[in-house]
Amino acid sequence: MRGVADALLSVLLAPACAACEVPLDAPTRGPVCADCWSRIVPFTPPLCGHCGDPLPSWRVISLDAKICARCRRAASALLRARAIGAYEGSLRSIVHALKYDSRRSLAAPLSARMRRECADALDGADVLVPVPLHGRRQRARGFNQAEELAQGLGFPVRLALKRTRPTPSQTDLPAARRHANVRGAFRLRRRADVRGLRVVLVDDVCTTGATLEACARVLRDAGASEVRAVTAARVVSRPRE
Ligand SMILES: [Zn+2]
Ligand SMILES: [Zn+2]
Repeated sequence: MRGVADALLSVLLAPACAACEVPLDAPTRGPVCADCWSRIVPFTPPLCGHCGDPLPSWRVISLDAKICARCRRAASALLRARAIGAYEGSLRSIVHALKYDSRRSLAAPLSARMRRECADALDGADVLVPVPLHGRRQRARGFNQAEELAQGLGFPVRLALKRTRPTPSQTDLPAARRHANVRGAFRLRRRADVRGLRVVLVDDVCTTGATLEACARVLRDAGASEVRAVTAARVVSRPRE
C-alpha cells in the first residue's frame, strides 16, 4: 500500500510547468518544461532595422532600407530594438510566469536567449538600463523583472531611470492612449550619468514601444550618444496592407 501511496503523492505533488501546467519531468531544471522552451519561435529575418518587427519577405526587395512602414512614418529616439520573438504562445506564458507568478529563476534562461537573439542590439553597449517599475509596484512584486533580465546579459547594468508616477499597464490601454500614459513618467536618477554612453534599455515586453520611447528620450536628453532596446518579447504590429 505504501508504494501506491508514494506513487500517488509524487504524482499529486509534482510541480507543474509554470507555462503549460503539465507536470514537470525534471523539476530541478527549473519551473518551465523543456517542451515549452523548445516551442519558443524566435523572429527570423528580414526584420525592420529599427524596431525589429518581422518584415514580410515579399516586400523587402522593393525597400531601399529594411525599415517597416511604421518606422518610416515616425522618428524614434531608439536607434534599434530587438526581441527574442513575438509575445505569443510559449514565450508569452514564460514571460507571464516570470512577471506575475514571481518565477524569478526564469530570468536567467530568458536572458541567455536574449543574448543570442538580440546580439545586434547589444553589441558594443556601454551600459544596460532596465526600464524601472514604480516603487509601489516593485515592492508588491519583490523585484523588477527588467532588472533581473538585464543582469544576465553580460554588460554593466545601471539603474539610471526612475518612474515618477504609477502608470496603468500599457496592455490595458487602447493604442492611442499609450504615449500619453507614459509621457513624463520617467526621469534620470540623481547622480546617474549617461553622457556619451551607448545605452541599451532592457524590458520584458515591448507592447507599442511607447514606454521604451519615453525612456529613450530621457536618456538622449541626458546626453546618451545612442539608445537601443532589447526585450524578451515584442507585440508584433500586424500590417493592414
Ligand atoms: Zn511546459
Ligand atoms: Zn520598424
